[in-house]
Amino acid sequence: MLSKIVIANRGEIALRILRACREMGISTVAVHSSADRDLKHVRLADESVCIGPPSSADSYLNIPAVISAAEVTDAVAIHPGYGFLSENADFAEQVEKSGFIFIGPRPDTIRVMGDKVSAIASMKKAGVPCVPGSDGVLDDDIDKSLQIARDIGYPVIIKAAGGGGGRGMRVVRSEAALHNAISLTQSEAAAAFGNAQVYMEKYLENPRHIEFQVLADEHGNAIHLGERDCSMQRRHQKMIEEAPAPGLSKHLRKKIGERCAQACREIGYRGAGTFEFLYEDDEFYFIEMNTRLQVEHPVTELVTGIDIVREQLQIAAGEKLTYKQRDVKIQGHAMECRINAEDPDNFMPSPGLISRYHAPGGAGVRVDTHLYSGYRVPPYYDSMIGKLITHSHTRESAMARMRMALDEIIIEGIKTNVPLHKTLLRDGIFQAGGSNIYFLEKKLGMY
Ligand code: ADP
Repeated sequence: MLSKIVIANRGEIALRILRACREMGISTVAVHSSADRDLKHVRLADESVCIGPPSSADSYLNIPAVISAAEVTDAVAIHPGYGFLSENADFAEQVEKSGFIFIGPRPDTIRVMGDKVSAIASMKKAGVPCVPGSDGVLDDDIDKSLQIARDIGYPVIIKAAGGGGGRGMRVVRSEAALHNAISLTQSEAAAAFGNAQVYMEKYLENPRHIEFQVLADEHGNAIHLGERDCSMQRRHQKMIEEAPAPGLSKHLRKKIGERCAQACREIGYRGAGTFEFLYEDDEFYFIEMNTRLQVEHPVTELVTGIDIVREQLQIAAGEKLTYKQRDVKIQGHAMECRINAEDPDNFMPSPGLISRYHAPGGAGVRVDTHLYSGYRVPPYYDSMIGKLITHSHTRESAMARMRMALDEIIIEGIKTNVPLHKTLLRDGIFQAGGSNIYFLEKKLGMY
């Protein structure tokens, strides 16, 4: 097993990784910015190294600083968590070149999947169903693009090959608007992602977002852990996730899940990963692959009983997967609410001192958070401060537990989106399950 790892992240996910390490007897090094000395995992880690000032660019995204921290502490591996450097192929490469283990896929896999156009091409080759669209990047020939759009049928969506985080996309509803939309998305993509390449997809009017969790080891074994429904989104950011997806048939789960696992074997995937799909009229359309641990991994852990972070650590140590596909059983239903430090009315960030914090509890309630009374939420990073996750034998009962947990949790001193979650969990349409990705924004009056 790995002897000591660097946790190159912050907040709840750094704590989640630290807990897995402690359970497994792996020593931990927390690397943190100067604004994050008081983070819970920094206090709990065996060692900690301050790697820079508050700004992420100078700390959590500072590749030499992270690698130096591994060097001075004699760590053997680096876990990137999610966000920050987790999907940076250059980082993964430098980690390996410096003699450390990168807890994630091979750098070349990250590179292929990080470019959505090459990701789609490799998935098509592996037989994974994709959204009808341009075969690759759009070139400067607008007549060609017009023809592609005509063949696909409007509306279409122009997407940046290097896009992420819900940015770099533009919906086009008529031929007249296409040329402009392509140029605008290209220049935005060049500025935001350093890559002006864009491609075209059919814009689906009524889809759900359903994604499959996979695990693959270095010995050619790959399994899927079923799916998560992440359709509750605002500005393409997920707010509530659940597993399994309401109404999805066992047959379709097996078919798509096995296709994903097979794709992993074909591309030589290593580690934990997620295949994201849009799902409409019983059809799955691949949109992208995330080559890292996801925020919403706990719902899968609760319905499968599999510790995904533990598996990641074992895979990184060169071990074989603990489970075979037949060992994976989906039991009951799990739901996750992301708790953000933000004003529930206008979504403005609300950093500051947590004057009082009480965690909810009881059967089937999991709280993944680094919060404690007296902790100050810094203004420099993502506003997510924790996740409430509930599990029970049915969806109704998992929701009842979530309502209870939301009513029980006390976070004072800052504003959070807990009131919004309470409203949603009492909404009849949400309760019925199976809403599409536009439901939340419609409900918020944004769409
Ligand atoms: P990102 O990497 O920025 O998260 P994705 O490709 O995963 O980008 O898309 C994010 C979200 O954008 C999806 O969950 C969905 O809500 C919307 N979206 C993307 N492609 C399409 C499409 N072809 N039709 C409709 N909505 C889409």
